[in-house]
Amino acid sequence: MSQPENKHKIQLPPPEKAPVHTANIAVWIWYFLSPYKAIILSFWALRAVRYMWLSLLPVMIGMLLDALESGAAQADPLFYGGFMAVFMVVYGIFLINLLFIPEVACYEKAARGLTLYSINHINSLSLSWHEAQGSGGKLQRIMTGRKGLQELCRHLRWDGFSLIGDMLAIGVSFFIVDLPLSYAPLYLLFVVTYLASSWYFARPFLVLYDRFNERFEKLLSGVYEFVSAIRTVKAFNLNRPILKKAALLEEEGQEAIIKAFSSNLLRWTVCNLVAAFWLFLFAGLGFYSVLKGEMTPGVYAAAFFLAYNIWSSCEVIASIWEKAYEYGNGVHRLTKMLCLTPKKLDIEPLSPLPERREEISFADVSFTYSGEDAGGKGAGLYNIDFAIKRGEKIAIVGPSGAGKSTLVKLLMKQMLPGGGSIQVDGHDLAHIPTADWLNNIGFVPQDVELFNATIRENILLAHEDIDEARYRNVLEQAAIAEFIESLPAGDQTMVGERGIRLSGGQRQRIGIARALARGADLIIFDEATSSLDSLSESQIQDAIENSFTGHTLVIIAHRLSTIRHADRIIVLDQGRIAEQGTFAELIKQGGLFAQSWERQSGK
Ligand code: ADP
Repeated sequence: MSQPENKHKIQLPPPEKAPVHTANIAVWIWYFLSPYKAIILSFWALRAVRYMWLSLLPVMIGMLLDALESGAAQADPLFYGGFMAVFMVVYGIFLINLLFIPEVACYEKAARGLTLYSINHINSLSLSWHEAQGSGGKLQRIMTGRKGLQELCRHLRWDGFSLIGDMLAIGVSFFIVDLPLSYAPLYLLFVVTYLASSWYFARPFLVLYDRFNERFEKLLSGVYEFVSAIRTVKAFNLNRPILKKAALLEEEGQEAIIKAFSSNLLRWTVCNLVAAFWLFLFAGLGFYSVLKGEMTPGVYAAAFFLAYNIWSSCEVIASIWEKAYEYGNGVHRLTKMLCLTPKKLDIEPLSPLPERREEISFADVSFTYSGEDAGGKGAGLYNIDFAIKRGEKIAIVGPSGAGKSTLVKLLMKQMLPGGGSIQVDGHDLAHIPTADWLNNIGFVPQDVELFNATIRENILLAHEDIDEARYRNVLEQAAIAEFIESLPAGDQTMVGERGIRLSGGQRQRIGIARALARGADLIIFDEATSSLDSLSESQIQDAIENSFTGHTLVIIAHRLSTIRHADRIIVLDQGRIAEQGTFAELIKQGGLFAQSWERQSGK
């Protein structure tokens, strides 16, 4: 049976049509609205008619007054009464805001589409970009952008169309009452001078809101960091210095806001004076025309109230002007981020991941951190040449900064080599789809990142479809089954944010279980035991030794005692391979490795 279609389904516009060449917010907003354009454009037309109808009321009253005065209404009360009744019934229908529910739903879906698109886009950006950004700030950008889109659309549909309706009503009035044509440019000038003054005096908002939003992103980024490092904050009693930093950012934000407020007050004063001038002019001109007998009192009233309507609509627009800058800036900060092009990691032509991977080889691989990534340091890896056979256990060691993590990032295809290539059974890794390659890898980092979910969810991540017997087996192999059974809620126990409720050893075992549960054949340990005490370390070490037989292992290690049984050890120094061999061979060579071993083992 086919599933009924979800009526709240969010439609994402085609990614290839994303306007990544511009950060212009109108273009981006239209991009997210475009899947619903048929509904939205129909409702925009309906709104224009609605507001025009509402604005025509003074004209209708003016007509009625003139008809009463001339006696026409008394002669044919049925016609005039009926005419007004029909007008008022339609007027009443247009006041039923419920009419617009389908339209409002589209804007909400567009805002959600923007959120999904932004999350996907952020994920596609390079690791080094992420490393340079605060997490809280990134989230804040998405949230402010989303809110900005919702608010801008809300003001456009209610306030923007009100002015359009007024202008249409004026246009129609020239046909239905004797409004002098010379009034047309006057109405137009009223709108132009009012909105131009509002724009001119609102210019500082642009910079001020950008400054305010930037400070706020920094503040949230800091708050997010300190909340996630709450143990350090408490242990080092960092409350006061954090508050001091936050206060500084808040004060800078406050300064920007206060400046925005004072320019706003000046803007309102000027706009009010402009409106007063025009209303006075319309009142005076009309009065003069009636005195001269060129205009009836009814048309005079209509002409004046049409101008009054313009003032009301312009005033509404001016009142959201400041907010529009605030929201517009929020969207703009996000669209700037959406224009960043992700680094292309999959190079055409793509070739499939070989079925059974026999060998991964680094062929003269070099990589230099450059530009914004490196801060001008130019560190990296040079002429790395070695091969990993299926089922081998390779250890990578070397002093801090030698390039071990860089090697892992290249192996995990988080970035591409600058020179040489990584080959999988003779196929360049650059041409193998990243998603397929990563499915073949289990990764156990030094700091296993846990999500605020259950232990089971943290182990299985997105692979909930695992066979239950295999899952139990994974728990046994990672030596975590006993611990899980000792918990009242078992593997349904929530681990707390970032696994704060678990010990380092427990987190590490979950990391190992994760790698095993993936069923991947290449497992990478990045200093997976270096932050543990020696008891936990040797237990985890046992788990690694016993659980990963048959897998290909790449182990980045700091403590050399943990890699005694590696098939081969590669010693990196300043981005180059300094030595390689088995543990015994390297000790015999008496080089860098042997010296480090002497220091660590105290021999
Ligand atoms: P290891 O893991 O052996 O400690 P890394 O691979 O992390 O070494 O770093 C190798 C060199 O590259 C170091 O000099 C480090 O400062 C530099 N480096 C690492 N990551 C970056 C980065 N994102 N931007 C700039 N330089 C980096």
